[in-house]
Amino acid sequence: MPSTTRTPSNFIEAAAIRAAMKRARTGQASRIGPDPALHGHDAELQWVEAVLRHRLSLNPLGRPVSIRTKDDDTHPLVADGQHFPAVALSIPFADRTLNFLATYDDDRRLTFDLIGPCDRCGKPVPIEEINSLEDLGDHLLQTRDGLGGSPRLRTSPAHADDCLARGN
Ligand SMILES: [Zn+2]
Repeated sequence: MPSTTRTPSNFIEAAAIRAAMKRARTGQASRIGPDPALHGHDAELQWVEAVLRHRLSLNPLGRPVSIRTKDDDTHPLVADGQHFPAVALSIPFADRTLNFLATYDDDRRLTFDLIGPCDRCGKPVPIEEINSLEDLGDHLLQTRDGLGGSPRLRTSPAHADDCLARGN
């Protein structure tokens, strides 16, 4: 992973870096409470979007954040799954877009990965598990290099066929 630190280009990245520095200083993440519940009348995509807004504490930022949410054509919703697609979410800004993938981890918990180019093949793959504003800040500050990125990085079907980053 590159160790360059980029400057935040939007208010979400700036808030994420502030949150990560606070967590590093105090050892504690901000308490955000339980995820929103999935109610029968909600479409699942809307629920996944609501969970991402909650995990990233977007509503307390006090500015409207538009999120585009759709089925992901490449990744399954659960590891080795076939029938249900993962959910792709994007937060567009003027100069870049933050792309996330929502899947269920081995504990059946909805989890989010930041999508970015593979170091080896350049395809868009899950590079870092991001479940809080602090996580996003750590990623932007490159303070989590030692953690090795998302567990989905090696299993992602989005890699090029011959990509060595893909596990077997
Ligand atoms: Zn790759």
